[in-house]
Amino acid sequence: MKNTAQAVVIGGGVVGASVLYHLAREGMTDIMLLERDVLTCGSSWHAAGGFHTINGDPNVAKLQKYTIELYKEIEELSGQSCGVHRTGGIMLASDEQRMEWLRMSLARGKYLGLDLREMGLDEALEVNPFFDKSKFVGAIYDPLDGHLDPYGVTHAYAKSARILGAAIHEQTKVEDTVPNGDGTWTVVTNKGDIHAENVVNCGGLWAREVGRMAGLELPILAMEHHYLLTESLTGVAEFNERTGREIGHAVDFSAELYTRQERDGVLIGTYEQDCKPWHPHTTPWNFGSELLEPDYDRIMPSLEKIFEHFPAYRDVGIRQAINGPFVFAPDGNPMIGPMRGMPGYWCAVGVMAGFSQGGGVGLSLANWMVHGDPGADIWAMDVARYGDWATMRYTNKKVRENYSRRFQIKFPNEELRAGRPHKTTPIHDRLVAEGARMGDGWGLEVPLWFAPEGVEDEHSFRRSADFEYVGAECRALRDGVGVIEASGFAKYIVRGEGAEAWLDGMLACRLPEPGRMALAPMLKEDGKVIGDFSVANLTTARTGPKYKILGAGNAEVYHMRWFLRHLPEDGSVEVVPVGLGMCGLAVAGPKSRELLSRLTDEDVSNEGMRFMDIRDMELDGIPCIVGRVSFTGDLGYEIWMRPEYQRRIYDLLHEHGAGLGIRNVGMRAFLSLRLEKKFGTWGREYRPIYSPVECGLDRFCSTRKEADYIGRAAFEKAKAEGGTLRLSTFTVDADDADAIGDEPVFHDGDAAAVGWITSGGFAHAAGRSVAMGYIPREMAGDTGEGAFEIEILGQRRKATVADIPLFDADGSRMRS
Ligand SMILES: Cc1cc2nc3c(=O)[nH]c(=O)nc-3n(C[C@H](O)[C@H](O)[C@H](O)COP(=O)(O)OP(=O)(O)OC[C@H]3O[C@@H](n4cnc5c(N)ncnc54)[C@H](O)[C@@H]3O)c2cc1C
Repeated sequence: MKNTAQAVVIGGGVVGASVLYHLAREGMTDIMLLERDVLTCGSSWHAAGGFHTINGDPNVAKLQKYTIELYKEIEELSGQSCGVHRTGGIMLASDEQRMEWLRMSLARGKYLGLDLREMGLDEALEVNPFFDKSKFVGAIYDPLDGHLDPYGVTHAYAKSARILGAAIHEQTKVEDTVPNGDGTWTVVTNKGDIHAENVVNCGGLWAREVGRMAGLELPILAMEHHYLLTESLTGVAEFNERTGREIGHAVDFSAELYTRQERDGVLIGTYEQDCKPWHPHTTPWNFGSELLEPDYDRIMPSLEKIFEHFPAYRDVGIRQAINGPFVFAPDGNPMIGPMRGMPGYWCAVGVMAGFSQGGGVGLSLANWMVHGDPGADIWAMDVARYGDWATMRYTNKKVRENYSRRFQIKFPNEELRAGRPHKTTPIHDRLVAEGARMGDGWGLEVPLWFAPEGVEDEHSFRRSADFEYVGAECRALRDGVGVIEASGFAKYIVRGEGAEAWLDGMLACRLPEPGRMALAPMLKEDGKVIGDFSVANLTTARTGPKYKILGAGNAEVYHMRWFLRHLPEDGSVEVVPVGLGMCGLAVAGPKSRELLSRLTDEDVSNEGMRFMDIRDMELDGIPCIVGRVSFTGDLGYEIWMRPEYQRRIYDLLHEHGAGLGIRNVGMRAFLSLRLEKKFGTWGREYRPIYSPVECGLDRFCSTRKEADYIGRAAFEKAKAEGGTLRLSTFTVDADDADAIGDEPVFHDGDAAAVGWITSGGFAHAAGRSVAMGYIPREMAGDTGEGAFEIEILGQRRKATVADIPLFDADGSRMRS
């Protein structure tokens, strides 16, 4: 075994093998994989081997499609069969809501290039003949579904990687990973030390323990999972003979079942409600290729439902029961990427569907390590989407919730309850007392809307009980003044002698003068948007260079990772994420200036405090930072204070605003207000796959400033060429369901989708259903009435490009 490597991959399950293969394919060949026992000895060997393309996140769905199509390539290169059975599969809906959910997946597939189609139940019986038609209302069919041989796939990756020059060492246990202080690592094994430029944790069932070697506590947890293999089942052989096909894969959401043919019987797998974590604290190192004791009592309620829906399964004998553990992140998606502040340390862990996702995980990670960028929008799988707040117990609660809900619909207006409340702001109880219906924003309780007692959300894809109340909040703000809890934004303080020069090279905008703010896109080397901030210059003679950056709350780790990666080593710049150490309240609406003036002696007139001014200001004696800016598109102010002052400021605003018609405004109203103003937001309209020219942030990217900021050359080139997409806002002829995001967009009555929606909803003040999304640049100028259509819940709705904001098109409300 060599004692140096460009990359050491820890773990020889399907994920480690795929990462190794992709690194080699991308040209990095001085690499090795270390496996403590033999390949596949973790969770990989006993997987049911099913694969499918559907995923709640469209970008993950795309990578699942890539994974499935990859098997041919690695079979050809390695000569090792992956044992792929492309049977096709049906997803069965037992009620209309599930059918709507399926139609949404189907619609999404239209712009992702997935070949899904709706199927009548009689036709579905030709794919899998065992379900009782009377229990279902419809189905969709995915021709890419199937199953494979987990051992064969893992070995096909491994052999292919070897052919491309990678080394694999079995019986080699990593005992420690030690940072050398220069961005390299010493990997300590039972066979000697290795000096590695990069370390990839693919430890699967032991990924938590491998992470701990580097001081990480990863938010992942293994769960026990059952599937049953039956004896010979009457009807299977006859079906095979009659159709010349295998029985296809089937998912029955209401019975929490997945099933397919296995030999002349079937495989029955279930995600039971009474689920059970496996070794919640520490995975034993002596666990090998063994199975866990089946627990029929625990899965019996699921089996009873299954027997009702698939009656033929009732009387067949069980040949073998598999109960094995595998690992989940709190939301069930993989956790991949470089770790913040740990140069050279990477993760590819929490991959719960290694045979649907392993290829995409390997591809993204290899692209990232070799080319500096994952090459796709992998936010839903990014290890940076959780912070240190996702602790072991929190993870335990969330993973159990996610497992037991695996086959349940997550409605767009549904807030999951497990692990909450976790983080709260000082006014949490005040807001709840005022009727706030809370949601979860990166572990923080955030007010979504305010309701009278007894009025609750009805979970739905359509407009729900909140509609009227959110509308009232919007109108109250547009007519008077609203107060919004703003603490959930990420805030970073940047200071030090080098702060100005460093920020000038990080942000694409011109830096504001002291006392001013600017909108600040941040770009990657390829000129795409990696951050969308506002930056405030808080420099004074007393503080020295000091800036406050405000960005998306859920991207704090993601952005800190980027900042730290680019921070100078000479200590001249410090970036501190202040989190809830700084709380915020926003006031907005035509009467917000009057309200502010009642709390301060300072001149807050339009001349005294201009749009985008920011300064220290006492509000009734309380030290705050007040900036004149508003995401609602109305006259407005952001007020920042230490947490101990937030309650008092909140109370003062309500006391002094009573005569002005002040009203609490929640996040749903906030969304509605920004939509009618055509304001995009991070994670929706602004993502690292769009150029500023495409997403409309180009007007904030300087082509004149001196500093050569990251991504400038690529941005200027894209600007000259015009990009390929355009972010557009549409008004939609909707009835009781608005777009919510991820719907396909059609043009001129064509069958093929030309774009996709990023956000949507009802713009209450404008009184229109609105959606934002991306379409080809050359179509964006087509403002003809109904020139576009957006598919909402299976129906194409006429949509018209709104070339100017529906509210305050000239911006005078915000600026005067
Ligand atoms: C019952 C069951 C059914 C399933 N069905 C499906 C399915 O139908 N479809 C699907 O896609 N997925 C399925 N899965 C999930 C699938 O098995 C996992 O997604 C996949 O195995 C994860 O692979 P991995 O490489 O991340 O982890 P693992 O397979 O656990 O591999 C990790 C490897 O790392 C090694 N390792 C750990 N620590 C060290 C160390 N310190 N030094 C050296 N080596 C180390 C381990 O020995 C192990 O080989 C199922 C899982 C179970 C349990």
